[in-house]
Amino acid sequence: MQKTHGFLAALAAITLVQVAGAGETRSAGKHEHGTTSLGIAVEGQSLVLELDGPAANFTGFERPPANDAEKQALARVLNALRDGAALFGTPPEAACRLKSAAVSPPGYEDDGHADLEAFWEFTCGSPAALTWVEARLFKAFPGTEKLSTSVVTDKGQKAVVLTPGTTRVLLPE
Ligand SMILES: [Zn+2]
Repeated sequence: MQKTHGFLAALAAITLVQVAGAGETRSAGKHEHGTTSLGIAVEGQSLVLELDGPAANFTGFERPPANDAEKQALARVLNALRDGAALFGTPPEAACRLKSAAVSPPGYEDDGHADLEAFWEFTCGSPAALTWVEARLFKAFPGTEKLSTSVVTDKGQKAVVLTPGTTRVLLPE
């Protein structure tokens, strides 16, 4: 458990460096409609994915649901996000299985913005075969146009931007 925590701290540090490097366009809050942050971390047999983005990228609105239709839309989004096995692809030979998923409902702020966060952990039977991860969120959530992705593995780190035309990130070799 402690190992995992250290690992996530390392991932968070990298995300911070990236935001600092981006400079003029992004504040510390990194809330940019259309862009969702994705952290990918691999250590041993564990593949951890962390997503953080404006709620509008997923639900189309950033205020408490105003009616039943919006309540249902939000519930559908949260349920879809829990299904990590549908949202992310990995090489079949890596034998990765979803172990846990956690989705935080948007916390609506007075400024009219809200972020949505999700976390998934997979366990991979053959981690040596885990050479790529594919994000399949774009069709389910067309409000997400870009996935600003940070990768940390035992072998290295990288940052890439995934789009509907480029959904697969190759892991450091
Ligand atoms: Zn917003």
